[in-house]
Amino acid sequence: MPDTLLPSPLPSSFDENHPPSTEIIDKCVHCGFCLPVCPTYVLWNEEMDSPRGRIYLMKLAAEGGASLNSQWVSHFDSCLGCMACTTACPSGVDYGKLIEATRAQIERHHPRSFGERIHRRFLFAVFTRPDRLRLLRWPLLAYQKSGLQSLIRGAGLTRLFSRRMRSMESLMPRLQANEPVPEVTPAIGQKRLRAGLLLGCVQREFFSQVNAATVRVLAAEGCEVVAPEAQPCCGALMVHAGEEEGALALARTTIDVFERANVEVIVANAAGCGSNVKEYGHLLRDDPDYAGRAKAFAAKCRDITEILTELPPRAPRNPLPLRVAFHDSCHLQHAQGVRSQPRQLLSNIPGLELTEIPEGAICCGSAGIYNLVQPEAANALGDRKAQLIVPLKANVVATGNPGCILQLQSSLARLGQSTRVLHTIQLLDASIRGAKL
Ligand code: SF4
Ligand code: SF4
Repeated sequence: MPDTLLPSPLPSSFDENHPPSTEIIDKCVHCGFCLPVCPTYVLWNEEMDSPRGRIYLMKLAAEGGASLNSQWVSHFDSCLGCMACTTACPSGVDYGKLIEATRAQIERHHPRSFGERIHRRFLFAVFTRPDRLRLLRWPLLAYQKSGLQSLIRGAGLTRLFSRRMRSMESLMPRLQANEPVPEVTPAIGQKRLRAGLLLGCVQREFFSQVNAATVRVLAAEGCEVVAPEAQPCCGALMVHAGEEEGALALARTTIDVFERANVEVIVANAAGCGSNVKEYGHLLRDDPDYAGRAKAFAAKCRDITEILTELPPRAPRNPLPLRVAFHDSCHLQHAQGVRSQPRQLLSNIPGLELTEIPEGAICCGSAGIYNLVQPEAANALGDRKAQLIVPLKANVVATGNPGCILQLQSSLARLGQSTRVLHTIQLLDASIRGAKL
């Protein structure tokens, strides 16, 4: 048949600004190996809420067979971006690149409801700004310390809150005294490295004790630590939610700040931030001023547990007689491939007994802002995880991401459990200092 008689293909529903790669989409052979580890498929058993189904929906839209309407978008909104499917896939489908590109297309072309727009704006305006989170500390402290929180929770009055307010309230951390870290901390003994520290946003304001522990451990292991006060949010929440322009601006400023700090490595202690900064080369690939610098920046980035296993231990460890259940954060195990390092560090603490949580590949439901925008699914996953943790009878649950800490604390509390959830580095810090937990 002459070419002129062939039906013209339908136009793609995506624009030309980095649509999901058809090359990656076509790598999917529909084998279904990713289905058992996909949290939404595990919950609902729906093909279109599985990785394979979502890749099919991307293909359909790329070929013009589906528009980015509310129903199509709902299957991507429900995806946690946990990357368990990428780890499980034998064909090497890089789902992370696909979902990131799809979400950016959705935010450009799908009109969200007024309520959704306001809610998302609020989340990004607050959770990507440490200065605004700092302002929130005082009313939150007053709410907790005055006993109002216990009263409201005890009387079941949170039922009167909107579902979004209710999920925010249940995830609220128990605030402690702020432990800010200095801009420069000298190494103890002979200096082995000059390390930059990413402070995070939620981590900096609500888990400052994790940053303080990170600095103490790095210094004890011979690192000079530089924690530039001027660093902004790294943009992780925005990238994972498809807010590309805002994320690019934050990435550029982060690079500027750390270039001035002149460090050999850049350490992340929040898995979501770590997985994002390691992808700066890809994020800024179109920017002639930043593409090369972003690649160089990303090459220096390491999770705290990677750095500490690369450096032969110098500081003596004291016994910590605890039974610890280790929870793999998705952005550590799937997005960064970091699994053995935290286990190795914890196993080397004398007296510490490490135990594994079943279904370790499956997300706890935290996933950036997921537990705030999809609270029902997030709670179902949190409950599932907490039910697997309780029989382990652990004294502490250890993990490497502030979002997971909040999610696990809240899920365990729903089951009436008060098991402490700590960052891996806090256990190491306590062991080095000989402190009790
Ligand atoms: S495991 Fe990989 S190839 Fe198989 S269905 Fe899932 S994404 Fe496709
Ligand atoms: S990223 Fe997680 S939730 Fe999304 S499709 Fe993959 S496994 Fe499922």
